[in-house]
Amino acid sequence: MQTIAERLETAHAEIASATAKSHRPSNSVKLLAVSKTKPVSDIIAAYEAGQRLFGENYVQEGVDKVQELSHLSDIEWHMIGPIQSNKTKIVAEHFHWVQSVSREKIARRLNDQRPAHLPPLNVCIQLNIDDEQSKSGINKEEFGYLAQLIEGLPRLVLRGIMAIPKANPSTQEQQATLSALKEIFDQYHTSLSNFDTLSVGMSNDMQEAIYHGSTMVRIGTAIFGQRNNTTS
Ligand SMILES: *Cc1c(COP(=O)(O)O)cnc(C)c1O
Repeated sequence: MQTIAERLETAHAEIASATAKSHRPSNSVKLLAVSKTKPVSDIIAAYEAGQRLFGENYVQEGVDKVQELSHLSDIEWHMIGPIQSNKTKIVAEHFHWVQSVSREKIARRLNDQRPAHLPPLNVCIQLNIDDEQSKSGINKEEFGYLAQLIEGLPRLVLRGIMAIPKANPSTQEQQATLSALKEIFDQYHTSLSNFDTLSVGMSNDMQEAIYHGSTMVRIGTAIFGQRNNTTS
């Protein structure tokens, strides 16, 4: 069995190859290691192999890990799962980024609850790009409204878009989805100064996402192995 360090190395090689093929600079795509359901020992193994960006989906599990690993002070923690409004306070207190903002109420609460001694919270708007009933995320029509609202909140910095394209698309569907995302990203990237993140691409669509302009891929399984619980 491969170690976490070896799997990370493979992921970096794949990112490097995809960025090269798409004629993009080699450092233009960040790797977010998605450690949901995995023990802190796995996060430490990845950290020791040089990984610094970690993503968690479940608020309480994520906060527990942030606290337990607070001595690793250069980790950047990203919340990427749905957040209920009664959980915004602990998220605002413990995370560096929240990629899963899709409601005005959540944005306002994160802004109000971001502790004064911390820098503004980095956020991405989660966009339901394929209009799937089952997925969270705002739809394309409402994206502009939420972006403008967040731009006016002083304790949040709007960094970009996070999306989870639908599973098992045809090649054509995948191209259409990723192109549509890139178009929306480019539109805001040119007009908003901090809007630099297109968070798309997971273990099984990372390369296609990079060909279509992803700046951050979120990789769980390919680094930490299969998750063995049913809620993931
Ligand atoms: C679980 C998860 C990932 C990682 O998915 P893998 O297929 O394991 O790479 C990425 N993004 C989000 C939002 C997730 O929930």
